[in-house]
Amino acid sequence: MTDRSPLPLVFDEPRGRKKPPRHLADLTPAERKERAAELGVPGFRANQLSAHYFARLVDDPEQMTDLPAGQRADLVRALLPELMTPLRTLEADKGATVKTLWKLFDGAMVESVLMRYPGRVTMCVSSQAGCGMACPFCATGQGGLQRNMSAGEIVEQVVAGARALARGDVAGGEGRVSNVVFMGMGEPLANYKAVMGAVRRLTDPTPDGLGMSARGITVSTVGLVPRINQLTEEGIPVTLALSLHAPDDELRDELVPINTRYSVHESVEAAWHYAERTKRRVSIEYAMMRDINDQAWRADLLADVLTSYGDWGWVHVNLIPLNPTPGSKWTASDPEDEREFVRRLEAKGVPTTVRDTRGQDIDGACGQLAASPDGG
Ligand code: SAH
Repeated sequence: MTDRSPLPLVFDEPRGRKKPPRHLADLTPAERKERAAELGVPGFRANQLSAHYFARLVDDPEQMTDLPAGQRADLVRALLPELMTPLRTLEADKGATVKTLWKLFDGAMVESVLMRYPGRVTMCVSSQAGCGMACPFCATGQGGLQRNMSAGEIVEQVVAGARALARGDVAGGEGRVSNVVFMGMGEPLANYKAVMGAVRRLTDPTPDGLGMSARGITVSTVGLVPRINQLTEEGIPVTLALSLHAPDDELRDELVPINTRYSVHESVEAAWHYAERTKRRVSIEYAMMRDINDQAWRADLLADVLTSYGDWGWVHVNLIPLNPTPGSKWTASDPEDEREFVRRLEAKGVPTTVRDTRGQDIDGACGQLAASPDGG
């Protein structure tokens, strides 16, 4: 691997920062038992609290009638501390899309988006407050990285959505979260450990975790190649999405600055290895920007780059109509150019879909999350 040029990208948060409160969702089942022992209570109390949190979605000590009344509040404070408070929720699509702005314990703000479709509900979660990857067309990338989120803070966004659905608070009646996409704020693979912890909590069977299928979880990345390779070795069949946005290094260096470190070729090769090992089809994300990356010849080049790794269905392309961000000089592609782009990819045997732009009017669509309390 060649380091193509040094760049002021931020991977590490400042040292000496106060950590979020330690939560049951930060811990493996074995670590929860150890924590119970430290608190001087039997290990099965940790199981009971796990069942309340993951299976019953309960966090109110009053409802935990299987715990001694005198210990409930202390146990909840120690193992289920409050991690975030909702500052504002915005709805779109007649309530089927709900964006929540959260304030974390240290004042950092992040957003999550619940999207209800016929037959499934997807939670789009943040993995970092801000983002250090500096992609110029993405609103989150403009503010830089504030900090990594903890596994508990990531999981809590999903649990909050699950609670709202279980209570029937979301238009369409009672429901469950079926899919989680790491496509909110942040670069998930730059916060690898916490993100993997969260993935384990989401997929561990209840009551140790939420019992979701790994196949319903998508980790989206700018292409941190060593981390993609690490994910390949984990053996958890989550769906990998690679935000490519250009098939050539010259343009991708500009659109996705990390490309100056890991080239198109290196990123796509790592994604292909992931598909080969996990047998999960990789998704190539491509935000369509008018006259920037949407030319017919780039569609041909993209198809050639992808099919050079084989045409056994290892990959599909997901085109994202560019969502507007404040002050951005880029606009969405012409529908006609978009159709031609799709046609060329499919002509070369690359399955292609065009993503819907859920939540655009509440700035809840891809690349619009900027977490300011007065808009954004
Ligand atoms: N950092 C990760 C995940 C967050 S973004 C990643 O980049 O993959 C989720 C997707 O939204 C990415 O594919 C990202 O490139 C895309 N995106 C960012 N800004 C966008 C915008 N303004 N319009 C459309 N898609 C955008």
